Amino acid sequence: MNLSPIPLGVRTTCPYCGVGCGVLATPAADGAVTIAGDSTHAANAGRLCVKGSALGETLSLDGRLLHPAVREDGVLRQVSWDAALDQVAGRFRDIIAEHGPDAVALYVSGQLLTEDYYVANKLMKGYIGSANIDTNSRLCMSSAVAGHKRAFGEDLVPGCYDDFEQADMVVLVGSNAAWCHPILFQRIARIKEARPDFKVVVIDPRRTATCELADLHLPVKPGTDVWLFNGLLSYLARNGGVDQAFVAAHTNGLDAALNTADADCADPLAVARICRVDAEQLLAFYRLFAATSKVVTAFSQGVNQSSAGTDKVNSIINCHLLSGRIGQPGMGPFSLTGQPNAMGGREVGGMANMLAAHMELDNPDHRAAVQQFWQSPRIAARPGLKAVDLFRAIEAGTVKAVWIIATNPLVSLPDANQVQRALEQCQLVVVTDIVAGTDTNAYAHVLLPALGWGEKDGTVTNSERCISRQRAFLPAPGEARADWQVLCQVARRMGFDGFEFAGPGDIFDEHVRLSCHRNSPADLPRAFHLAGLAGLDARQYAELAPVQWPVQAGGAGTPRLFEDGRYAHPDGKARFIATAPRAPAHLPDAEYPLTLNTGRVRDQWHTMTRTGKAARLAGHVAESFIDMHPQDALKFGVREGELARVSSQWGAMVARVQHGGGIARGGVFIPIHWNGQSASDARVGAVVSPAVDPLSGEPEFKHTPVMIERFGVSWHGFILSRADLALDQVAHWTRIQGEQFTRYELAGRGAIADHGAFARTLLGVADADADWLDYEDRSGAVYRAVHLVDERIAQCLFISPRPDLPSRTWLASLFAKDQLTQADRISLLSGQPIDKGADAGPTVCSCFGVGRNTICTAIRSHALTSVAAITGCVKAGGNCGSCVPELKQLLAATLAAEHACALD
Ligand code: SF4
Repeated sequence: MNLSPIPLGVRTTCPYCGVGCGVLATPAADGAVTIAGDSTHAANAGRLCVKGSALGETLSLDGRLLHPAVREDGVLRQVSWDAALDQVAGRFRDIIAEHGPDAVALYVSGQLLTEDYYVANKLMKGYIGSANIDTNSRLCMSSAVAGHKRAFGEDLVPGCYDDFEQADMVVLVGSNAAWCHPILFQRIARIKEARPDFKVVVIDPRRTATCELADLHLPVKPGTDVWLFNGLLSYLARNGGVDQAFVAAHTNGLDAALNTADADCADPLAVARICRVDAEQLLAFYRLFAATSKVVTAFSQGVNQSSAGTDKVNSIINCHLLSGRIGQPGMGPFSLTGQPNAMGGREVGGMANMLAAHMELDNPDHRAAVQQFWQSPRIAARPGLKAVDLFRAIEAGTVKAVWIIATNPLVSLPDANQVQRALEQCQLVVVTDIVAGTDTNAYAHVLLPALGWGEKDGTVTNSERCISRQRAFLPAPGEARADWQVLCQVARRMGFDGFEFAGPGDIFDEHVRLSCHRNSPADLPRAFHLAGLAGLDARQYAELAPVQWPVQAGGAGTPRLFEDGRYAHPDGKARFIATAPRAPAHLPDAEYPLTLNTGRVRDQWHTMTRTGKAARLAGHVAESFIDMHPQDALKFGVREGELARVSSQWGAMVARVQHGGGIARGGVFIPIHWNGQSASDARVGAVVSPAVDPLSGEPEFKHTPVMIERFGVSWHGFILSRADLALDQVAHWTRIQGEQFTRYELAGRGAIADHGAFARTLLGVADADADWLDYEDRSGAVYRAVHLVDERIAQCLFISPRPDLPSRTWLASLFAKDQLTQADRISLLSGQPIDKGADAGPTVCSCFGVGRNTICTAIRSHALTSVAAITGCVKAGGNCGSCVPELKQLLAATLAAEHACALD
């Protein structure tokens, strides 16, 4: 058992990505919270990325759901907890009594703590008796789970973060780690800096920020990863890349896997054509892999989110098994999980096709063992509905009640309009959330307020199997309660015993004991166990230090698995899996000729309910966008900076066209974060195909055939306003949080007859005596207005027929002033600062608020030639380092432009 003293601040864990960084949170008397990296946590050694650094700015109670509410006559009304819990338990009980246990479901989240997840799973599978509990982790790593089970016999991540440091080559497949796992990426960057011979290969259809570190980037055609790795398997087999002794002693199934790979992928030139990569570069990768013993292949959503996701995972694992590059320092396949507790959810079986403690639903001995341990009245007899199928069943009426906890499926699931239809006609929708106004909450019959990060207490497990404590350092706001507590209260009201937990430590102890239950070689062996954490008392649980499972008796963790060459299949051997390549479920055609890829941006998380509150995180990418190749933009009649509509056979959305994301012709990329609260029509989930992997059920977020067309508007505009506004009368809007204002990007249709009247209506300024300045050009199309209160800017509005409007960064700086000068007023009406240096440009470094113009000016005027020099001059890149890849790009572009000028 590991103990660590609690310092002055509270040691906890970041609630965002699967890197699982340790955080030191120090609340002050005034309610502010200072956030720092926990230098004692092995995942980050004191570092945080920009999202983690900004955690303190997301903790306000603005927009929080603070009281239970029940919908009556179409209106949500605040009720007591007793009334809300009675309603949930009673309705669930009635529906089960009438239609059976499979008529109800839970849809939960990788944001839950392990203790919450454990109770939810126990309630559904052991007491209600249905496995209809699935999770948004289904959307990010279920293909990795299925791949691990096929290859290793259990869902086991072989390696640890230290393996990246000990490797001589890291291959990043379908992972923009620079933005999505920034602290791990920065660890890789530091290795590269210290050891220039260390190789980084990136396999990704897009030239992402991660490629700034790459020795080799293979921009594969979306969906062709299996061809590429089958090609590697075949190449290794024919070019001395086989570890014969390892394969003979520790694996099964090579012949079938190799025959399948050889059938389509023995010729690297043919593979290069299919993958649409340069043949020499492909061969360079194959040679590098063959020649480098210590290789880590890290993969993420670009691999998992596919209708062939499980095969993609196994095609990668096959190459590591063939070359024996697994189970030793510096080598192995490595699944990067998207969410903070995707792994913890897997430990407790929080998915529809899993049982608790790495036991299997389709194994009768496992079912009996879990039921025996729980002493539960029943146990689910078969796997439940996975996420996409679950919402289909709700729409079909076979599932009549759903309890959604800590997730926003109306935004995040594919074919999101179908989710809306499902919830619209579902008999009972219960939603537990920390936020009052989400797209999903609009369909809730019962709303339950949850504790947020900083208020809740439990454990999470990161990508390298490291269990860390998330500790409360803020009081529960309003009537919010812990998720485990609410689940137990409903369970008890439904008449179930087995839910008398005094706190999360009690639940953790039961989880630990279940992990050890009948877990022996002669009985029901599982590699996952927490033996060394059995019997922790309250103080020991409170002080638990991070530890990687399996946790041996005595408390030692296990950084690396398979060091003894034993796997979890009954014969102790790993399995090669024959992975026949197949095309994505839906291919582009004449009607939908482009391929949509989706993903994250650097400074936002999921549906922005938390990161969207931090003004400095909004500065980097303020609006949703459609990134595409300039020639495709020309071909489809859309222009950079203008709005376009992207549609598929499932739905449509609107966003602004941009170039520069390194996307090949034929593709478009759209971020996943924007939703009905942050934009009028920018939910990309509505467009995404609901096709899923047949084994894992993970949706194909990376390959939806789409069409793009101009979104015709007659004017563009924006507002900065200290007051919140409703903008129903415009054709398109995006809402962005600023430091002292809210920013609205607008576009409208039709001529504006009277700009002044229109502006006053939009801004809600009815008072004819208000301090109001405005300007209209001779054409009558360009209009600017400023509303002042007590000499301070209260609101400003800019309208133009073109999207090239004044700098928002410059205007934002005016909101920090207590009094506008005459020069400021003139600048406002002329639409540009008198002092050109006043416009910092769009944010690049969110930590220090450094804009692109400031950086480029510094590069030019101080002849800067390195990122370190930029940091020394303007601070950018000097804190979390998340912007370093962009600084490199800006440096290269600015120096190239300077060089071109010198030649002219
Ligand atoms: Fe949080 Fe960033 Fe660490 Fe991920 S890399 S856990 S988002 S601080």
